[in-house]
Amino acid sequence: MSHALASRLDAVQPSATLAMTAKAQELKAQGRTIYTFGVGEPDFATPEHIRRAAAEGLAKSSHYTAVTGTASLREAICLATERDRGWRPSPENVTVGVGAKHVLFNLAMVLCEPGDEVVIPAPYWVSYPEQWRLFGGVPKFVQTRVEQGFLMQPEDLERALTERTKAVILCTPSNPTGAAYSRDELLGLVEVLRRHDCYVIVDEIYADLVYDGFEHASVARLAPDLMDRLVVVDGVSKSYAMTGWRIGWGIAPPALTKALAKVQGQSTTNPTAVAQIAAEAALRGPRDAVLHMREAFSARRKKMVEGLRAIEGIRCDLPRGAFYAFPDVTGLYGIRHGDRVLATDDDVALWQLDVCGIAAVAGTPFGAPGHIRFTYASAENVIDEALAALSRAVADARRG
Ligand code: PMP
Ligand code: GLU
Repeated sequence: MSHALASRLDAVQPSATLAMTAKAQELKAQGRTIYTFGVGEPDFATPEHIRRAAAEGLAKSSHYTAVTGTASLREAICLATERDRGWRPSPENVTVGVGAKHVLFNLAMVLCEPGDEVVIPAPYWVSYPEQWRLFGGVPKFVQTRVEQGFLMQPEDLERALTERTKAVILCTPSNPTGAAYSRDELLGLVEVLRRHDCYVIVDEIYADLVYDGFEHASVARLAPDLMDRLVVVDGVSKSYAMTGWRIGWGIAPPALTKALAKVQGQSTTNPTAVAQIAAEAALRGPRDAVLHMREAFSARRKKMVEGLRAIEGIRCDLPRGAFYAFPDVTGLYGIRHGDRVLATDDDVALWQLDVCGIAAVAGTPFGAPGHIRFTYASAENVIDEALAALSRAVADARRG
């Protein structure tokens, strides 16, 4: 008998966002003051009416549900998609999973043959390439540029597509850059995608979190002609402060939906019954809490970006959406940290954790060396305090 682990894991890195969160929690447990800008999740509690619906729903939650989610949750998802994203899917095309990450994972499992290419604009969310690598997929990264707001350009997308391309993954608004495509910018990409027969996976989990009047644009609405190969991934984690409930979904063509159901039927059986009740209450209920949280994120975004910009050696643009600032920190290279000199984004992340107690994730695992991702889903006074500490640490280091 061999005790070796399956070799498919060798190609995969552990999640860097979760690793930084674990490190920050460990330091906190030791009694250190830690400013947590690491993991991407709202600091708000799930709104009261949603928790109440879940409490009341407990009595009805003792049993398995349909594999892809209850009929009434899938109907609620379709109604909310029409209200919030401007197009109406049908419930048979919805698969509810244990978070959007689970749905994305299952998509990689059902789509990827070894050697298949998946086109991913960089910087990207850490889990996209790893999920595909687990199934032998080959990520093809399209580098975006800070001067172009980290938006993928149609000609760069065109160059990355080959006959081996199985799927393109778009994330708008993006984790980690906060870049979001306007209608026209998205149409430019759609033009290219129309000419190449591959799946288009659009992750819209941050679509409710856009600022300063920016309007989120959905590929499904702009290009219904792509529907037979389009997959929309969405969920309640970010908009409704429900990360712990683990409910997300995919809206996909019938054959793909059947495949996702097959995988789920042999793995999780169904997403947790009471969490489905909570998600349904979120989608059918009032939107005030979502708008209130968005307002709060918008103010924090300005505070975070302005605070970072005021520090010599840090450059940062104002993102259109999500809740991340993604500054270039290469201007901090050269600072001494013990017997080392900062020379990478990872060095800077570890230095600021050590010296200021700031937990934020280095850019390299997002495909963006030289950057650090600061989640600004934290109270404004926490952002103020942390940035003041960082500013002092940089000034002290420069005085040397
Ligand atoms: N997509 C993106 C871009 C994300 O940042 C996240 C956050 N974890 C997810 C998907 C997954 O969200 P969840 O699994 O909590 O629904
Ligand atoms: N999406 C969040 C992040 O990027 C949550 C953690 C994760 O699932 O990676 O931090």
